[in-house]
Amino acid sequence: MQSLPTFDLVLFGGTGDLAMRKLLPALYRRSCAGQIDAASRIVGAARSQLTREEYLEQVRSSCETHLGSVFDAKKWTQFAEHLQYVRVDAQSDDDFGRLGELLRPQPQRVRVFFLSTGPDLFAPIAEALARHSLISPVSRVVLEKPLGYDGASSAEINERIGKLFPETSIFRIDHYLGKEAVQNLLALRFGNQLFEPLWRRGRIQHVQITVAEDVGVERRAQFYDHVGALRDMVQNHMLQLLCIIAMEPPASGAADATRDEKVKVLRALRPLTGRDVLQKTVRGQYKAGAVNGKPVVGYLEEKDMPKDSSTETFVALKVQVDSWRWAGVPFYLRTGKRLQEKQAEIVITFEDVPLSIYERPDTPHALNRLVIQLQPEESITLSVLAKSPGHGMVLKPVDLSLDFADAFKTRQLDAYERLLTDVINGTLTLFMRRDELEAAWSWIDPIRAAWQQHDERPKSYTAGSWGPAAASSLIGRDGFAWRNEL
Ligand code: NAP
Repeated sequence: MQSLPTFDLVLFGGTGDLAMRKLLPALYRRSCAGQIDAASRIVGAARSQLTREEYLEQVRSSCETHLGSVFDAKKWTQFAEHLQYVRVDAQSDDDFGRLGELLRPQPQRVRVFFLSTGPDLFAPIAEALARHSLISPVSRVVLEKPLGYDGASSAEINERIGKLFPETSIFRIDHYLGKEAVQNLLALRFGNQLFEPLWRRGRIQHVQITVAEDVGVERRAQFYDHVGALRDMVQNHMLQLLCIIAMEPPASGAADATRDEKVKVLRALRPLTGRDVLQKTVRGQYKAGAVNGKPVVGYLEEKDMPKDSSTETFVALKVQVDSWRWAGVPFYLRTGKRLQEKQAEIVITFEDVPLSIYERPDTPHALNRLVIQLQPEESITLSVLAKSPGHGMVLKPVDLSLDFADAFKTRQLDAYERLLTDVINGTLTLFMRRDELEAAWSWIDPIRAAWQQHDERPKSYTAGSWGPAAASSLIGRDGFAWRNEL
Protein backbone atom coordinates (compact mmCIF):
# COMPACT_ATOMS: atom_id res chain seq x y z
CA MET A 1 0.00 0.00 0.00
CA GLN A 2 1.48 3.34 -1.07
CA SER A 3 2.05 5.89 1.73
CA LEU A 4 0.23 9.15 1.47
CA PRO A 5 2.09 12.43 1.33
CA THR A 6 2.29 14.18 4.69
CA PHE A 7 -0.96 16.08 5.13
CA ASP A 8 -3.06 18.27 7.42
CA LEU A 9 -6.72 17.40 7.12
CA VAL A 10 -9.18 19.78 8.75
CA LEU A 11 -12.52 18.12 9.25
CA PHE A 12 -15.21 20.78 9.58
CA GLY A 13 -18.23 19.08 11.14
CA GLY A 14 -15.72 16.88 12.98
CA THR A 15 -18.21 16.10 15.76
CA GLY A 16 -21.06 15.25 13.38
CA ASP A 17 -22.64 11.97 12.43
CA LEU A 18 -20.85 11.57 9.10
CA ALA A 19 -17.44 12.34 10.60
CA MET A 20 -17.94 9.95 13.52
CA ARG A 21 -19.59 7.12 11.65
CA LYS A 22 -17.68 7.14 8.37
CA LEU A 23 -14.83 9.61 7.94
CA LEU A 24 -12.84 9.07 11.12
CA PRO A 25 -13.19 5.26 11.07
CA ALA A 26 -12.02 5.36 7.42
CA LEU A 27 -8.95 7.40 8.41
CA TYR A 28 -8.31 5.04 11.33
CA ARG A 29 -8.24 2.12 8.91
CA ARG A 30 -5.80 3.90 6.59
CA SER A 31 -3.63 4.60 9.64
CA CYS A 32 -3.75 0.90 10.60
CA ALA A 33 -2.73 0.04 7.03
CA GLY A 34 0.40 2.18 7.53
CA GLN A 35 -0.57 4.77 4.92
CA ILE A 36 -0.48 7.81 7.20
CA ASP A 37 2.96 9.01 8.25
CA ALA A 38 3.66 10.13 11.80
CA ALA A 39 3.75 13.85 10.97
CA SER A 40 0.29 14.01 9.36
CA ARG A 41 -2.49 15.67 11.33
CA ILE A 42 -6.25 15.25 11.38
CA VAL A 43 -7.93 18.26 12.94
CA GLY A 44 -11.54 17.95 14.01
CA ALA A 45 -13.24 21.36 13.82
CA ALA A 46 -16.75 22.07 15.10
CA ARG A 47 -18.72 24.41 17.35
CA SER A 48 -18.72 22.18 20.44
CA GLN A 49 -16.46 23.32 23.25
CA LEU A 50 -14.27 20.24 23.70
CA THR A 51 -10.76 19.58 24.92
CA ARG A 52 -8.52 17.41 22.77
CA GLU A 53 -8.98 14.57 25.28
CA GLU A 54 -12.77 14.85 25.16
CA TYR A 55 -12.70 14.82 21.37
CA LEU A 56 -10.40 11.80 21.31
CA GLU A 57 -12.76 9.98 23.63
CA GLN A 58 -15.69 10.66 21.27
CA VAL A 59 -13.71 9.48 18.25
CA ARG A 60 -12.45 6.40 20.03
CA SER A 61 -15.89 5.40 21.18
CA SER A 62 -17.26 5.91 17.68
CA CYS A 63 -14.45 3.92 16.03
CA GLU A 64 -15.01 1.10 18.51
CA THR A 65 -18.74 1.07 17.83
CA HIS A 66 -18.47 1.21 14.07
CA LEU A 67 -15.45 -0.99 13.53
CA GLY A 68 -16.33 -3.71 16.01
CA SER A 69 -13.73 -6.46 16.16
CA VAL A 70 -11.46 -4.58 13.73
CA PHE A 71 -10.78 -1.98 16.42
CA ASP A 72 -7.40 -2.49 18.05
CA ALA A 73 -6.41 -0.54 21.17
CA LYS A 74 -2.70 -0.47 20.24
CA LYS A 75 -3.37 0.81 16.76
CA TRP A 76 -5.79 3.34 18.21
CA THR A 77 -2.95 4.89 20.24
CA GLN A 78 -0.98 5.34 17.03
CA PHE A 79 -3.99 6.87 15.24
CA ALA A 80 -4.80 9.15 18.17
CA GLU A 81 -1.37 10.80 17.78
CA HIS A 82 -2.63 12.35 14.53
CA LEU A 83 -5.79 13.81 16.06
CA GLN A 84 -6.31 17.39 17.21
CA TYR A 85 -9.43 19.41 17.94
CA VAL A 86 -10.06 23.10 17.35
CA ARG A 87 -13.31 24.78 18.23
CA VAL A 88 -14.38 26.66 15.13
CA ASP A 89 -17.75 28.28 14.75
CA ALA A 90 -18.07 28.95 11.04
CA GLN A 91 -19.72 32.28 11.86
CA SER A 92 -16.89 33.48 14.09
CA ASP A 93 -13.83 35.00 12.47
CA ASP A 94 -11.70 34.71 15.63
CA ASP A 95 -12.00 30.93 15.66
CA PHE A 96 -10.26 30.74 12.28
CA GLY A 97 -7.34 32.61 13.82
CA ARG A 98 -6.76 29.66 16.15
CA LEU A 99 -6.96 27.24 13.27
CA GLY A 100 -4.41 29.38 11.46
CA GLU A 101 -1.94 29.13 14.36
CA LEU A 102 -2.05 25.38 13.98
CA LEU A 103 -1.76 25.21 10.20
CA ARG A 104 0.54 28.09 9.29
CA PRO A 105 3.84 26.54 10.46
CA GLN A 106 3.41 23.81 7.80
CA PRO A 107 2.76 25.72 4.56
CA GLN A 108 4.23 23.05 2.26
CA ARG A 109 1.98 20.25 3.36
CA VAL A 110 -1.01 18.97 1.45
CA ARG A 111 -3.84 20.75 3.24
CA VAL A 112 -7.33 19.29 2.99
CA PHE A 113 -10.43 21.14 4.20
CA PHE A 114 -13.22 18.57 4.40
CA LEU A 115 -16.54 20.37 4.77
CA SER A 116 -18.82 17.86 6.44
CA THR A 117 -21.38 20.48 7.42
CA GLY A 118 -24.61 21.69 5.87
CA PRO A 119 -24.14 23.36 2.46
CA ASP A 120 -25.10 26.78 3.85
CA LEU A 121 -21.72 26.83 5.59
CA PHE A 122 -19.57 25.82 2.59
CA ALA A 123 -19.01 29.30 1.19
CA PRO A 124 -18.75 31.08 4.58
CA ILE A 125 -16.09 28.57 5.72
CA ALA A 126 -14.12 28.86 2.47
CA GLU A 127 -14.31 32.67 2.64
CA ALA A 128 -13.12 32.72 6.25
CA LEU A 129 -10.21 30.43 5.30
CA ALA A 130 -9.28 32.88 2.56
CA ARG A 131 -9.52 35.93 4.87
CA HIS A 132 -7.09 34.19 7.21
CA SER A 133 -4.76 33.26 4.34
CA LEU A 134 -5.15 29.57 5.09
CA ILE A 135 -5.65 28.49 1.49
CA SER A 136 -2.20 27.48 0.31
CA PRO A 137 -1.25 26.37 -3.23
CA VAL A 138 -1.48 22.75 -2.02
CA SER A 139 -4.90 23.13 -0.41
CA ARG A 140 -7.93 21.12 -1.41
CA VAL A 141 -11.53 21.48 -0.40
CA VAL A 142 -13.94 18.56 -0.15
CA LEU A 143 -17.66 19.27 -0.40
CA GLU A 144 -20.17 16.74 0.91
CA LYS A 145 -23.60 16.37 -0.60
CA PRO A 146 -26.02 18.04 -0.78
CA LEU A 147 -24.29 20.70 -2.81
CA GLY A 148 -27.17 23.11 -2.61
CA TYR A 149 -30.89 22.50 -2.92
CA ASP A 150 -31.43 23.37 -6.57
CA GLY A 151 -29.55 24.62 -9.60
CA ALA A 152 -29.47 28.21 -8.35
CA SER A 153 -28.21 27.52 -4.81
CA SER A 154 -25.69 25.00 -6.13
CA ALA A 155 -24.44 27.53 -8.69
CA GLU A 156 -24.02 30.13 -5.96
CA ILE A 157 -21.92 27.75 -3.82
CA ASN A 158 -19.81 26.77 -6.81
CA GLU A 159 -19.36 30.40 -7.79
CA ARG A 160 -18.20 31.48 -4.35
CA ILE A 161 -15.95 28.45 -3.76
CA GLY A 162 -14.63 28.75 -7.33
CA LYS A 163 -13.34 32.26 -6.58
CA LEU A 164 -11.10 30.84 -3.85
CA PHE A 165 -10.07 27.38 -5.03
CA PRO A 166 -9.20 26.35 -8.60
CA GLU A 167 -11.49 23.66 -10.00
CA THR A 168 -8.66 21.12 -9.75
CA SER A 169 -8.61 21.62 -5.95
CA ILE A 170 -12.35 21.12 -5.48
CA PHE A 171 -13.42 17.58 -4.60
CA ARG A 172 -17.20 17.15 -4.75
CA ILE A 173 -17.82 13.83 -3.14
CA ASP A 174 -20.31 11.22 -4.20
CA HIS A 175 -19.42 8.25 -2.07
CA TYR A 176 -21.22 5.82 -4.39
CA LEU A 177 -18.39 6.33 -6.87
CA GLY A 178 -15.91 5.11 -4.26
CA LYS A 179 -17.54 1.72 -3.98
CA GLU A 180 -15.50 -1.25 -5.12
CA ALA A 181 -18.33 -2.62 -7.27
CA VAL A 182 -18.59 0.69 -9.16
CA GLN A 183 -14.84 0.63 -9.75
CA ASN A 184 -15.23 -2.90 -10.95
CA LEU A 185 -17.98 -1.92 -13.32
CA LEU A 186 -15.51 0.50 -14.89
CA ALA A 187 -12.87 -2.26 -15.01
CA LEU A 188 -15.36 -4.65 -16.55
CA ARG A 189 -16.39 -2.17 -19.22
CA PHE A 190 -13.05 -0.65 -20.10
CA GLY A 191 -10.54 -3.35 -19.13
CA ASN A 192 -12.18 -6.07 -21.20
CA GLN A 193 -13.20 -6.43 -24.81
CA LEU A 194 -16.07 -8.73 -23.92
CA PHE A 195 -18.87 -6.34 -23.03
CA GLU A 196 -18.23 -3.37 -25.30
CA PRO A 197 -19.94 -4.81 -28.43
CA LEU A 198 -22.98 -5.65 -26.31
CA TRP A 199 -23.11 -2.41 -24.41
CA ARG A 200 -25.70 -0.63 -26.53
CA ARG A 201 -29.21 -0.49 -27.98
CA GLY A 202 -30.13 -3.64 -29.82
CA ARG A 203 -28.23 -5.71 -27.23
CA ILE A 204 -29.38 -4.22 -23.96
CA GLN A 205 -33.11 -4.28 -23.43
CA HIS A 206 -33.32 -2.03 -20.39
CA VAL A 207 -31.45 -0.92 -17.29
CA GLN A 208 -32.69 -0.67 -13.70
CA ILE A 209 -31.04 1.17 -10.86
CA THR A 210 -32.46 0.65 -7.39
CA VAL A 211 -31.25 2.26 -4.19
CA ALA A 212 -33.55 1.02 -1.44
CA GLU A 213 -33.16 1.92 2.21
CA ASP A 214 -34.93 0.16 5.06
CA VAL A 215 -34.37 3.08 7.43
CA GLY A 216 -36.64 6.10 7.74
CA VAL A 217 -35.52 9.68 8.24
CA GLU A 218 -33.76 8.79 11.52
CA ARG A 219 -32.61 11.96 13.30
CA ARG A 220 -32.67 14.06 10.17
CA ALA A 221 -36.37 14.89 9.83
CA GLN A 222 -35.91 18.61 9.27
CA PHE A 223 -33.11 18.17 6.77
CA TYR A 224 -34.89 15.44 4.87
CA ASP A 225 -38.25 17.15 4.74
CA HIS A 226 -36.60 20.10 3.06
CA VAL A 227 -34.95 17.87 0.44
CA GLY A 228 -36.87 14.68 -0.45
CA ALA A 229 -35.79 11.58 -2.35
CA LEU A 230 -35.31 13.20 -5.76
CA ARG A 231 -32.71 15.65 -4.50
CA ASP A 232 -31.26 13.45 -1.76
CA MET A 233 -30.56 10.42 -3.95
CA VAL A 234 -31.37 10.88 -7.65
CA GLN A 235 -29.64 14.20 -8.35
CA ASN A 236 -26.32 12.80 -7.15
CA HIS A 237 -25.84 9.05 -6.53
CA MET A 238 -28.30 7.66 -9.04
CA LEU A 239 -27.39 9.97 -11.90
CA GLN A 240 -23.72 9.27 -11.24
CA LEU A 241 -24.37 5.52 -11.47
CA LEU A 242 -26.35 6.06 -14.66
CA CYS A 243 -23.38 7.99 -16.08
CA ILE A 244 -20.97 5.16 -15.30
CA ILE A 245 -23.20 2.74 -17.21
CA ALA A 246 -24.04 5.00 -20.12
CA MET A 247 -20.81 6.91 -20.77
CA GLU A 248 -18.58 6.30 -23.77
CA PRO A 249 -15.12 4.83 -23.14
CA PRO A 250 -12.91 7.70 -21.91
CA ALA A 251 -9.90 8.50 -24.09
CA SER A 252 -7.47 7.95 -21.19
CA GLY A 253 -7.29 7.28 -17.48
CA ALA A 254 -7.02 11.02 -16.76
CA ALA A 255 -9.69 12.41 -14.44
CA ASP A 256 -11.08 14.83 -17.01
CA ALA A 257 -11.37 12.14 -19.66
CA THR A 258 -13.89 10.28 -17.46
CA ARG A 259 -15.60 13.47 -16.33
CA ASP A 260 -15.94 14.69 -19.93
CA GLU A 261 -17.80 11.49 -20.81
CA LYS A 262 -20.04 11.64 -17.76
CA VAL A 263 -21.13 15.18 -18.47
CA LYS A 264 -22.06 14.20 -22.03
CA VAL A 265 -24.45 11.62 -20.62
CA LEU A 266 -26.03 14.14 -18.28
CA ARG A 267 -26.53 16.54 -21.17
CA ALA A 268 -28.06 13.74 -23.25
CA LEU A 269 -30.75 12.94 -20.67
CA ARG A 270 -34.09 13.60 -22.31
CA PRO A 271 -35.66 16.48 -20.36
CA LEU A 272 -38.70 15.57 -18.28
CA THR A 273 -41.03 18.53 -18.24
CA GLY A 274 -44.70 19.44 -17.98
CA ARG A 275 -47.25 16.61 -18.07
CA ASP A 276 -44.60 14.15 -19.26
CA VAL A 277 -43.30 14.22 -15.70
CA LEU A 278 -46.58 12.79 -14.44
CA GLN A 279 -46.29 9.84 -16.85
CA LYS A 280 -42.65 9.08 -16.20
CA THR A 281 -42.20 9.66 -12.51
CA VAL A 282 -43.81 8.32 -9.36
CA ARG A 283 -43.63 10.08 -6.00
CA GLY A 284 -44.31 8.20 -2.80
CA GLN A 285 -44.39 8.74 0.95
CA TYR A 286 -44.31 5.91 3.48
CA LYS A 287 -47.09 5.30 5.97
CA ALA A 288 -46.87 3.12 9.08
CA GLY A 289 -45.95 -0.51 8.52
CA ALA A 290 -43.33 -3.03 9.53
CA VAL A 291 -39.70 -3.25 8.48
CA ASN A 292 -37.60 -6.30 9.29
CA GLY A 293 -40.44 -7.57 11.44
CA LYS A 294 -40.67 -4.42 13.56
CA PRO A 295 -43.55 -1.92 13.48
CA VAL A 296 -42.53 1.56 12.33
CA VAL A 297 -44.37 4.86 12.19
CA GLY A 298 -45.30 6.65 9.00
CA TYR A 299 -43.36 9.63 7.63
CA LEU A 300 -45.87 12.16 8.95
CA GLU A 301 -45.65 10.70 12.46
CA GLU A 302 -41.84 10.96 12.57
CA LYS A 303 -40.49 13.26 15.29
CA ASP A 304 -40.37 16.96 14.28
CA MET A 305 -42.18 16.28 11.01
CA PRO A 306 -44.75 18.82 9.74
CA LYS A 307 -48.07 16.96 9.74
CA ASP A 308 -49.01 18.19 6.28
CA SER A 309 -45.66 17.46 4.62
CA SER A 310 -45.84 16.47 0.98
CA THR A 311 -42.15 15.60 0.66
CA GLU A 312 -41.48 12.40 -1.28
CA THR A 313 -39.63 9.57 0.47
CA PHE A 314 -39.76 7.47 -2.69
CA VAL A 315 -39.30 8.26 -6.33
CA ALA A 316 -39.26 6.13 -9.47
CA LEU A 317 -38.44 7.48 -12.92
CA LYS A 318 -38.22 6.33 -16.49
CA VAL A 319 -35.24 7.99 -18.09
CA GLN A 320 -34.07 8.10 -21.71
CA VAL A 321 -30.55 8.89 -22.82
CA ASP A 322 -30.72 10.50 -26.25
CA SER A 323 -27.53 9.23 -27.83
CA TRP A 324 -26.76 6.84 -30.69
CA ARG A 325 -25.71 4.19 -28.20
CA TRP A 326 -28.80 4.37 -25.99
CA ALA A 327 -31.70 5.66 -28.11
CA GLY A 328 -34.79 3.65 -27.20
CA VAL A 329 -33.25 1.86 -24.18
CA PRO A 330 -35.18 2.81 -21.04
CA PHE A 331 -33.37 3.36 -17.75
CA TYR A 332 -35.62 2.89 -14.73
CA LEU A 333 -34.51 4.47 -11.48
CA ARG A 334 -36.11 4.03 -8.08
CA THR A 335 -35.11 4.92 -4.57
CA GLY A 336 -36.91 5.18 -1.28
CA LYS A 337 -36.86 5.02 2.47
CA ARG A 338 -38.54 2.38 4.62
CA LEU A 339 -38.56 -0.13 1.79
CA GLN A 340 -38.48 -3.86 2.34
CA GLU A 341 -34.72 -4.17 2.57
CA LYS A 342 -31.52 -2.25 2.20
CA GLN A 343 -30.41 -2.87 -1.33
CA ALA A 344 -28.58 -0.96 -4.02
CA GLU A 345 -28.11 -2.54 -7.39
CA ILE A 346 -27.80 -1.93 -11.09
CA VAL A 347 -29.45 -4.51 -13.30
CA ILE A 348 -28.63 -4.63 -16.99
CA THR A 349 -31.01 -6.87 -18.90
CA PHE A 350 -29.91 -8.04 -22.34
CA GLU A 351 -32.18 -8.75 -25.29
CA ASP A 352 -33.40 -12.26 -25.86
CA VAL A 353 -31.76 -14.58 -28.44
CA PRO A 354 -33.16 -13.97 -31.95
CA LEU A 355 -34.23 -17.62 -32.32
CA SER A 356 -34.55 -20.23 -29.63
CA ILE A 357 -33.61 -23.76 -30.71
CA TYR A 358 -33.72 -25.26 -27.21
CA GLU A 359 -36.47 -25.59 -24.70
CA ARG A 360 -36.30 -22.47 -22.60
CA PRO A 361 -37.77 -21.68 -19.22
CA ASP A 362 -40.87 -19.60 -19.71
CA THR A 363 -39.87 -16.85 -17.31
CA PRO A 364 -38.33 -13.40 -17.52
CA HIS A 365 -35.33 -14.95 -15.69
CA ALA A 366 -34.46 -16.54 -18.99
CA LEU A 367 -32.79 -13.34 -20.17
CA ASN A 368 -29.11 -12.61 -19.63
CA ARG A 369 -28.65 -10.15 -16.81
CA LEU A 370 -25.67 -8.40 -15.37
CA VAL A 371 -26.34 -7.46 -11.76
CA ILE A 372 -23.98 -5.08 -10.03
CA GLN A 373 -24.81 -5.10 -6.37
CA LEU A 374 -23.58 -2.21 -4.25
CA GLN A 375 -25.43 -2.92 -1.02
CA PRO A 376 -25.67 -4.77 1.31
CA GLU A 377 -22.68 -6.63 -0.18
CA GLU A 378 -20.73 -5.66 -3.27
CA SER A 379 -20.68 -8.20 -6.07
CA ILE A 380 -21.16 -8.63 -9.81
CA THR A 381 -23.22 -11.49 -11.19
CA LEU A 382 -23.87 -12.44 -14.79
CA SER A 383 -26.89 -14.61 -15.29
CA VAL A 384 -26.67 -16.94 -18.30
CA LEU A 385 -28.62 -19.95 -19.50
CA ALA A 386 -27.04 -23.37 -19.12
CA LYS A 387 -28.20 -26.89 -19.80
CA SER A 388 -29.82 -28.47 -16.81
CA PRO A 389 -28.47 -31.98 -16.01
CA GLY A 390 -30.30 -34.98 -17.44
CA HIS A 391 -31.76 -35.92 -20.77
CA GLY A 392 -32.64 -33.33 -23.37
CA MET A 393 -31.53 -29.76 -23.83
CA VAL A 394 -33.49 -27.99 -21.19
CA LEU A 395 -32.04 -24.61 -20.27
CA LYS A 396 -32.02 -23.04 -16.84
CA PRO A 397 -30.63 -19.71 -15.63
CA VAL A 398 -27.38 -19.97 -13.64
CA ASP A 399 -25.19 -17.24 -12.19
CA LEU A 400 -21.55 -16.54 -12.92
CA SER A 401 -20.44 -14.56 -9.90
CA LEU A 402 -17.50 -12.31 -9.42
CA ASP A 403 -16.76 -12.74 -5.77
CA PHE A 404 -14.25 -10.03 -4.95
CA ALA A 405 -13.29 -11.43 -1.56
CA ASP A 406 -12.61 -14.86 -3.01
CA ALA A 407 -10.82 -13.69 -6.15
CA PHE A 408 -8.47 -11.23 -4.50
CA LYS A 409 -8.17 -12.41 -0.90
CA THR A 410 -7.65 -8.85 0.24
CA ARG A 411 -10.02 -6.61 2.07
CA GLN A 412 -12.02 -4.18 -0.05
CA LEU A 413 -11.64 -0.55 0.88
CA ASP A 414 -14.66 1.25 2.19
CA ALA A 415 -15.79 4.02 -0.19
CA TYR A 416 -14.65 6.81 2.13
CA GLU A 417 -11.22 5.19 2.62
CA ARG A 418 -10.69 5.27 -1.12
CA LEU A 419 -12.09 8.77 -1.59
CA LEU A 420 -10.13 10.28 1.29
CA THR A 421 -6.87 8.82 0.01
CA ASP A 422 -7.74 10.09 -3.47
CA VAL A 423 -8.23 13.60 -2.08
CA ILE A 424 -4.90 13.51 -0.26
CA ASN A 425 -3.20 12.21 -3.41
CA GLY A 426 -4.99 14.82 -5.54
CA THR A 427 -6.75 12.27 -7.77
CA LEU A 428 -9.97 13.78 -9.11
CA THR A 429 -11.44 10.97 -11.23
CA LEU A 430 -14.11 9.92 -8.73
CA PHE A 431 -15.24 13.45 -7.89
CA MET A 432 -17.84 15.53 -9.67
CA ARG A 433 -16.77 18.46 -11.78
CA ARG A 434 -18.79 21.66 -11.67
CA ASP A 435 -20.31 21.20 -15.13
CA GLU A 436 -21.54 17.72 -14.16
CA LEU A 437 -23.32 19.12 -11.17
CA GLU A 438 -24.88 21.91 -13.22
CA ALA A 439 -26.06 19.46 -15.87
CA ALA A 440 -27.57 17.21 -13.19
CA TRP A 441 -29.48 20.10 -11.58
CA SER A 442 -30.69 21.34 -14.99
CA TRP A 443 -32.34 17.98 -15.48
CA ILE A 444 -33.71 17.67 -11.93
CA ASP A 445 -35.15 21.18 -11.41
CA PRO A 446 -37.88 20.94 -14.12
CA ILE A 447 -39.13 17.68 -12.58
CA ARG A 448 -39.72 19.40 -9.26
CA ALA A 449 -41.25 22.38 -11.02
CA ALA A 450 -43.72 20.11 -12.87
CA TRP A 451 -44.67 18.30 -9.65
CA GLN A 452 -45.42 21.66 -8.11
CA GLN A 453 -47.26 23.01 -11.12
CA HIS A 454 -49.54 19.96 -11.33
CA ASP A 455 -49.81 19.60 -7.56
CA GLU A 456 -48.52 16.02 -7.80
CA ARG A 457 -48.87 14.73 -4.23
CA PRO A 458 -46.88 11.66 -3.17
CA LYS A 459 -48.75 8.37 -3.24
CA SER A 460 -48.62 6.59 0.09
CA TYR A 461 -46.96 3.20 0.46
CA THR A 462 -46.72 0.92 3.44
CA ALA A 463 -43.38 0.92 5.21
CA GLY A 464 -41.71 -2.42 4.51
CA SER A 465 -43.11 -2.69 0.97
CA TRP A 466 -41.29 -1.91 -2.29
CA GLY A 467 -43.02 1.45 -2.73
CA PRO A 468 -46.28 2.54 -4.35
CA ALA A 469 -47.97 0.20 -6.81
CA ALA A 470 -47.59 2.95 -9.41
CA ALA A 471 -43.84 2.24 -9.49
CA SER A 472 -44.57 -1.30 -10.67
CA SER A 473 -46.95 0.06 -13.29
CA LEU A 474 -44.33 2.54 -14.51
CA ILE A 475 -42.03 -0.28 -15.60
CA GLY A 476 -44.86 -2.78 -16.19
CA ARG A 477 -46.39 -0.59 -18.92
CA ASP A 478 -43.28 -1.31 -21.01
CA GLY A 479 -43.56 -5.05 -20.40
CA PHE A 480 -40.78 -5.25 -17.77
CA ALA A 481 -40.66 -5.72 -14.01
CA TRP A 482 -38.34 -4.70 -11.20
CA ARG A 483 -35.94 -7.52 -10.43
CA ASN A 484 -37.49 -8.21 -7.02
CA GLU A 485 -40.86 -8.70 -8.73
CA LEU A 486 -39.63 -11.29 -11.24
P1 NAP B 1 -24.58 16.55 11.85
O1 NAP B 1 -24.49 15.28 12.60
O2 NAP B 1 -25.74 17.44 12.10
O3 NAP B 1 -23.24 17.36 12.14
C1 NAP B 1 -23.07 18.67 11.71
C2 NAP B 1 -21.67 19.10 12.05
O4 NAP B 1 -21.52 20.45 11.64
C3 NAP B 1 -21.37 19.05 13.54
O5 NAP B 1 -20.03 18.66 13.73
C4 NAP B 1 -21.57 20.50 13.96
O6 NAP B 1 -20.79 20.86 15.07
C5 NAP B 1 -21.05 21.21 12.75
N1 NAP B 1 -21.58 22.56 12.67
C6 NAP B 1 -22.87 22.95 12.61
N2 NAP B 1 -22.94 24.29 12.58
C7 NAP B 1 -21.68 24.75 12.63
C8 NAP B 1 -21.11 26.03 12.64
N3 NAP B 1 -21.85 27.16 12.61
N4 NAP B 1 -19.77 26.12 12.67
C9 NAP B 1 -19.00 25.03 12.70
N5 NAP B 1 -19.48 23.79 12.71
C10 NAP B 1 -20.81 23.65 12.68
O7 NAP B 1 -24.53 16.33 10.29
P2 NAP B 1 -23.90 15.09 9.50
O8 NAP B 1 -24.91 14.01 9.43
O9 NAP B 1 -22.56 14.77 10.03
O10 NAP B 1 -23.80 15.67 8.02
C11 NAP B 1 -22.87 16.65 7.65
C12 NAP B 1 -23.10 16.97 6.17
O11 NAP B 1 -22.87 15.80 5.40
C13 NAP B 1 -24.54 17.40 5.89
O12 NAP B 1 -24.57 18.33 4.85
C14 NAP B 1 -25.19 16.11 5.43
O13 NAP B 1 -26.30 16.35 4.59
C15 NAP B 1 -24.04 15.47 4.68
N6 NAP B 1 -24.13 14.01 4.62
C16 NAP B 1 -24.32 13.28 5.75
C17 NAP B 1 -24.37 11.90 5.66
C18 NAP B 1 -24.55 11.06 6.89
O14 NAP B 1 -24.58 9.82 6.74
N7 NAP B 1 -24.63 11.62 8.07
C19 NAP B 1 -24.25 11.27 4.42
C20 NAP B 1 -24.03 12.05 3.28
C21 NAP B 1 -23.98 13.42 3.40
P3 NAP B 1 -21.35 20.84 16.57
O15 NAP B 1 -22.17 19.61 16.70
O16 NAP B 1 -20.12 20.79 17.40
O17 NAP B 1 -22.16 22.05 16.72
